[in-house]
Formats: sequence, structure tokens, C-alpha cells
Amino acid sequence: MSNAYEELKPCLEQAQAFQTAKILFEWDNETLAPKEAKANTAKVVGTLSGAYFCAVTDPKVKKLVEQCQKDRDSLTEAERAIVRELAEEIEKLECIPPQQYREFAELTARSTGIWARAKKENDFESFAPVLKQIVDYTKKFASYRVKKGQRLYDVMLDDYEKGFDVKTLDQFFGMLKDQLVPFLKKLTDSGEDIDSSFLTGDYREEDQEKIGRFFAEYVGFDFDRGVMAVSAHPFTTNLHNKDVRITTCYNDHVDDSLFSVIHESGHAIYELGIPDNLTQTLAGQGTSMGMHESQSRFFENIIGRNQAFWVPVYETLQKQFPCQLGSVSMERFVRAINKVEPSLIRTQADELTYSLHVLIRYEIEKMLIEEDLDVEKLPKIWADKYEEYLGVRPQNASEGVLQDIHWSQGSFGYFPSYALGSAFGAQFYHYMKKDMDFEGLLRKGDIKTIREFLRVNIHQYGKLKTSRQILKDVTGEDFNPQYYIDYLLEKYGKLYHVEMGK
Ligand code: ZN
Repeated sequence: MSNAYEELKPCLEQAQAFQTAKILFEWDNETLAPKEAKANTAKVVGTLSGAYFCAVTDPKVKKLVEQCQKDRDSLTEAERAIVRELAEEIEKLECIPPQQYREFAELTARSTGIWARAKKENDFESFAPVLKQIVDYTKKFASYRVKKGQRLYDVMLDDYEKGFDVKTLDQFFGMLKDQLVPFLKKLTDSGEDIDSSFLTGDYREEDQEKIGRFFAEYVGFDFDRGVMAVSAHPFTTNLHNKDVRITTCYNDHVDDSLFSVIHESGHAIYELGIPDNLTQTLAGQGTSMGMHESQSRFFENIIGRNQAFWVPVYETLQKQFPCQLGSVSMERFVRAINKVEPSLIRTQADELTYSLHVLIRYEIEKMLIEEDLDVEKLPKIWADKYEEYLGVRPQNASEGVLQDIHWSQGSFGYFPSYALGSAFGAQFYHYMKKDMDFEGLLRKGDIKTIREFLRVNIHQYGKLKTSRQILKDVTGEDFNPQYYIDYLLEKYGKLYHVEMGK
């Protein structure tokens, strides 16, 4: 036991409390808060961010961290991880002048509202100057931390995925581009038409909610430790391992809410699997954004869009929607939920084209951060890339460059984690199939065995291991995106009766 760690504990709890309050306000903003509240709440969020900043960068805390690092041997594994995370957080925050930190928190609290209005009114011009400010701040903050030999974009990428830089991602996205773009062309040229018309129609919101709750619980979301609400875009908020919140939204496409619930449940199950000795600490969350997406997309696609998954539960879905699905066979339903259709909106993309949406964002972020791309040019570059990779062209900014919230929040370097997560998940799946009768378990309705594997091998570590370490420990090898590409080529080659050729 280290005395310095004992002394550090109340400081950590205080910082954690500010952070939790801030997150709760952000959740509230997106779900229940009245529309007029935004500007005033933004001030509160700014103050809480400032308080968190002061708590973490307090010179006393820094001294204690240094002492803890000397006392390393007397700390537990969890304590060592917490101290390491805190040291990194201090390094990250310390280099930013407090005034700038606060200004940026207020800017991003305001800018999401400006973005939302711009998107609704298809008015990129009103968002462009704010976006420019955000890009400038983000670059400035990264420049304070950049190490020798590192690029600014590397600094941002590392925040979301430790150990993944431009070089690694260029290689990863290069493989996706070389193998998936021509494969997609083959599929769309194949003439194979999958009917999914029955997924759209008069699906009542109450019924969708009811079935959403059923499937959340079926895959393992615990309603005693979580809630589900409605927001414009589905997301998960994690306060601690006894309070994890998911949201969804409803429209007339029943599969949108259904799969977003399963997706967010995947995120939530990760956080619910964090052990008590780690929760409410700096090491008590999913280890990275990519690993998080690996879990959510694993539940959504590898489990949820798997034919075997539907064997025990398709009837339940049919009973909820007898008019819409009563006469649709399970096979037809499963084909429909796996239909490939190049589209403009990332969040509605099918499993195959999804990572191409991410590829486009990666290339554009790199241009914004590394090549000083003028934000005014974004709508055209965006449209050109969609046409090149997906064969579709947005007609306006709302269905193009304005569709995602991330940049308005200052989250640069986040997007790649969506594609990385899908690839991590496929690598786990490849390994798990050797270890267990994966599809057999799904057919029996036994999600628990699969979930337990993920909890024991991934969730319970929180931030004790990096995503790369987890991949290595679980699958015996480093990150290898070929599993992901092979998984997609095989699954969709079969579905569309086309050659898997690379
Ligand atoms: Zn997600």
C-alpha cells in the first residue's frame, strides 16, 4: 500500500465526480432537456470541464502521481493502471492553457447546436466558420503534444486508439480500398436483387420500443443497471458499471431501431462488464474507441445479422408485427437485413459498405489536419469521394458532409475506430469459431456463453490492456485486417452468388 496513492484517492474521486456530472448533462442534452436549455447548459458544462481540468492539473496531484510512480511495486495492477492513465491525462491537459481549454469546451458545447441547425436547413455556410475554429483548436492542442517524428493527425488518432498511427491506418484503409471497392462493384453489377420492402412500413413506435427492449435484454443488456431512451442519434453513455444508458430512435424502417438497439447494447455490455474495483476510475472504461466499436458491431453484425441468431427468436418478432412480417419467412428476412446497397448515410449503411464510409472520412480528416484543406471545399470533396468509392453522389450537404455530429464535437481521429472495431471483431470471430460452436450456440439461444467469453477476455480488463494487447492475448497475433476482409468477401460472396476473388 502506498501512502501517496491513499492521498491521491480523494482527488481522483473529485475529478471523477466532475466528469460524471458533465457526462450526465451531455446525456440529458440529447434526450430529455428542452430545446431552449442548450446555451445555458453549455455554460454549466464549460464550468464542469474547467473544474475537472483544475482537479487533474493541480500541482499536488502531479506530485502524488510522481510519488506513486516511484512506489510502483507496492501498487496493485489496477492502481498502476489508474496512475498511468492519470499521468497521461495530466500530460495531455497540462500543455493546454486553461483559458483555451475552457473556450474550446464552450465552443464545442455550442457548435453541436449550430451543426444540428445547419444540417436541418442544409446550410453548410453557417457551420463552416465554426468548423474552421474547431479544426484550428484541435490542431493547436495536438501541436502542444506532438512528439518528434509524429504527425499532428497521429496525436489525434492515438487518443482514440493507442498504437495506431497514420502509417498503420494508411495500410489498413489501403487494403479495404483495394479489395472492397472492386468487390462492391461486382455485387452491384451481379443483378441479384434482394427484396427488403417489408422492413419499411407502418411499424408503430410503441411496438418497436417493446421489441427493442426484448432484444436488448435477449443479448444481455441489464435493465436493472441501465436505461433506454430516445435521441436523434443512438448512442451509449456510461456513468459507471451500475448505470449505463443507451438510446435509440424510431422511423418507419424497423431494422434501423432494431439493430441500433443491439449495437448500443454491445457498447453497454462492455461497460457493464467492467469490474467493481475499476469502475469510477480512470481505468474503468472500455480500453479504446475501436475496441468499443468491436463489441457493438460484433453484437450488431456478427451476432445480430447472423441467420443462426434468428432461429430461436424470429417468431417473437413476427408475433410483434404479424401484418408486416407474418408471411415473411426467416430466410427472406435474414437476406433482407443483409442487403447491400451503396448509400449516402453512414449510420444506415449495410455491413459491407460501412467501412467505405469510414475510409472517406479518414482521407478527408487527413487532408484537413495534415494538408490544411480549406473547409469551404469540403462539400465537393465529400461528394467526389462518395461517387468514386460508393457510386452515389449526395445532392446536398445535409446528406453529405453535414451528416455526422463528430466534427462539431471536436472529435477528429474518432472515425477510423468504427472501421478498426469491425476488423477487430472479425479477428475475434475467426478465433472464437475455432474455440466454440458459435452458430450452434446462437441457434440454441445461448448468447451467454459468447458474452461470457467477451467479458472474460476483453471487458473485465477495462483499460488494463490496450486494444493491441487484447488482440494478441485473445487471438495469438497482432492486428490483422485480412480476417475482416475475408469475412466480408465470404459472407457477401455467398449471399450474392459472386466469386470471392480479391
Ligand atoms: Zn457504436
